[in-house]
Amino acid sequence: MRVVIVGAGLSGLSAADSLSGAGVEVELMEAGHRVGGRTRTVRDRFAHGQYAESGAEWVDTTHWRMKELMDRYGLGVHGEGMKWSAIRRWLFWGDRLLDERELPEWERGLGESVDAYEESVDRHAEAMIDASRPQDHPQAEELDSLSLADMMRRAGLSPAASLFARRNSQGEFGTEPERVSLLFVAQQRAQENEVLARTGVQLRAHRVAGGVSAVAESLAAEVIARPNVRFRPSTEVRRITPGAESALVTTGTDDVTADFVVLATPLRAVGRMEIEGLPPLLREAIDRLGYGTITKTAVQFPCRQWRPGYGTTTSVSQRLYDCSVEQGGATGVLMSYCGGDGGDTLGGSTEKERVEIIATDMRKVHGIGVGPIGAFSRSWTSSGRYGGAYAVYEPGQVTRYWEVLRQPVGRLQLAGEHVATCTGYMEGAVESGRAAAERILAR
Ligand SMILES: Cc1cc2nc3c(=O)[nH]c(=O)nc-3n(C[C@H](O)[C@H](O)[C@H](O)COP(=O)(O)OP(=O)(O)OC[C@H]3O[C@@H](n4cnc5c(N)ncnc54)[C@H](O)[C@@H]3O)c2cc1C
Repeated sequence: MRVVIVGAGLSGLSAADSLSGAGVEVELMEAGHRVGGRTRTVRDRFAHGQYAESGAEWVDTTHWRMKELMDRYGLGVHGEGMKWSAIRRWLFWGDRLLDERELPEWERGLGESVDAYEESVDRHAEAMIDASRPQDHPQAEELDSLSLADMMRRAGLSPAASLFARRNSQGEFGTEPERVSLLFVAQQRAQENEVLARTGVQLRAHRVAGGVSAVAESLAAEVIARPNVRFRPSTEVRRITPGAESALVTTGTDDVTADFVVLATPLRAVGRMEIEGLPPLLREAIDRLGYGTITKTAVQFPCRQWRPGYGTTTSVSQRLYDCSVEQGGATGVLMSYCGGDGGDTLGGSTEKERVEIIATDMRKVHGIGVGPIGAFSRSWTSSGRYGGAYAVYEPGQVTRYWEVLRQPVGRLQLAGEHVATCTGYMEGAVESGRAAAERILAR
């Protein structure tokens, strides 16, 4: 059997690993010159060996497939890990920098307001029967017709609580709360709760020691070395013509016939290919599924003149943190993680402009007296091969698109974080690639 896999991100590589491991002949086509897709550690912009992640950064303790992969290649994590919480360590409001202790005095009832809101979201997650089938939730239609913003309104959040909730949506889902289905939020919580209950781990997020790129690079090095795998970098797939017995894959230079095709690219990239015979609802899902708009801007300063911990701002940076905190050294890299409308707007500027805007904001927020010595800014929305950061099911889209996106169409299988149960994460990419391979092997 011969399978063409399109895209060498973690999903395509995982499919290639499973299929080639079972003796299938694999042709792995990647439009870019490197493997890893949305995992990319940037080193060449920074002095003193420091680095920052332009895409995925955190591996949660619930991400057991990622953990397994990292163990396979001897890749470790940094420190004790971080516990996510809606209220971050500090808040920059207008022109005031407030720390954790000052927040309750500054806005009474802030903690209670955020907790009540979080609990109301949790209640919907608890009613989820099976996180891999959110359409079976007893209130699926109703929850899918609501957005996270509706939930915020119902909770009557105080001004600061409302900012924290909005920034959480812009960070976690990469989009404004108006564009996140409440059913999707419940599904995401439920799938996490399922793993927590099954494994008993404590929920923590870790950075990969030495940079996240090593995960895909290590997997690729093993898989590509197998005699039944042909890796073709800088090969963009333009057209797929599925037939009854096989499928024809057309690149810029040749045609390849395969028994099956795994499409492991983001949906925006699928939408740019000519594919014959797709069902209308699937075509609609490919064109319309929501994607977060994240712009990450990392700026290196000669000294760490900032408050420790993860902070939330009312300013253009949205969320700021030292992403080099485990790297040691006198210099440090401060990261702005900007999503939703803000991420989109920033993405419209050139990289040089973005760095200038964010570095100026960072200096204002923290009162940094020195200028930057290195930087990058990456907008995932403005790149045609990605068209966004990661999938986010908008109101109405879980009940309409969840199922159709996960069904094979003849010789075609979709893979990628957007069709996983752990949507939006590296874990989901690995999950989806393995699942596509299993379905093919079972035929
Ligand atoms: C800013 C940001 C922050 C994130 N943070 C986290 C995080 O902290 N933790 C976490 O777990 N996840 C995070 N993620 C999500 C994570 O990066 C993705 O879920 C995961 O890497 C997706 O893998 P994939 O294989 O599905 O897709 P991709 O990695 O996008 O791989 C798809 C590949 O297909 C290739 N391709 C596209 N078009 C074609 C074509 N026509 N022909 C051939 N090849 C093509 C692309 O070049 C790419 O290499 C983040 C993502 C972003 C953007």
